[in-house]
Amino acid sequence: MKTLISITLILVLCGCATAPKNTLTQVSTIDALLAGVYDGQMTTGELLTHGNFGIGTFDALDGEMIVLDGTVYQVLADGTVHVMPKDTTTPFAAVVNFEADKNGKIQSKDPLNSQKIHSLIDDLAENQNLFIAIRFDGTFPTMKVRSVPRQKKPYPPLADVVKHQTVFEYTNVTGTVLGFRCPAFVKGINVPSYHLHFISDDRKLGGHILDFSTMDGTLQLDTCNRFYMVLTDREEFAVADLSQDRTHELEKVEK
Ligand code: ZN
Repeated sequence: MKTLISITLILVLCGCATAPKNTLTQVSTIDALLAGVYDGQMTTGELLTHGNFGIGTFDALDGEMIVLDGTVYQVLADGTVHVMPKDTTTPFAAVVNFEADKNGKIQSKDPLNSQKIHSLIDDLAENQNLFIAIRFDGTFPTMKVRSVPRQKKPYPPLADVVKHQTVFEYTNVTGTVLGFRCPAFVKGINVPSYHLHFISDDRKLGGHILDFSTMDGTLQLDTCNRFYMVLTDREEFAVADLSQDRTHELEKVEK
């Protein structure tokens, strides 16, 4: 019990701190989200004190989150995009204060698929054991994204929710692909490898990326060697079974 109290105190004390450089700050764990822990635990206002760039979701799994240049956007299951107030809460998110340390330009006569872009990023950021924040501003002949509908209690596991996800396939859109490449060792905590979201330049389209193609754009990478995780002592998290390997569930959810 003493331990719990001191953790709570630390969370409160750190609530307004600005993260040091190259820090990926994460709310909750991906396995908790897979298990249906969807209650918002941090306001987006507080999230923004940890980073101006990132991805996640909202209280009750109400759509996909995009944090870009310090603005929090929500892509609802109907495909609409909304700027969110700072008192909105998130059950799972990852953010950084984005400062590019590697840059690249992509130009191709033929569309390059997302796998090709991943391998170009891998060439630029060879150390697979660090966190890489990825920003790619470009044009996209095809962009396939999804969002998820708001859930009611008792919350179903995420693998069941995505059976009802809505998928949008856009053509010839311009915008920003953003997210993270996380190391393999974060399995259970975050998504190993690539997890990317999209928002269009006009801020009218977006979502969790399933696939895309591009012919040109600007790539910026921010290598992060610090990792800060914020957990909660609420009951929903306390009773979640986080002892099992949820790799298969994650595959169903991400693809
Ligand atoms: Zn996502």
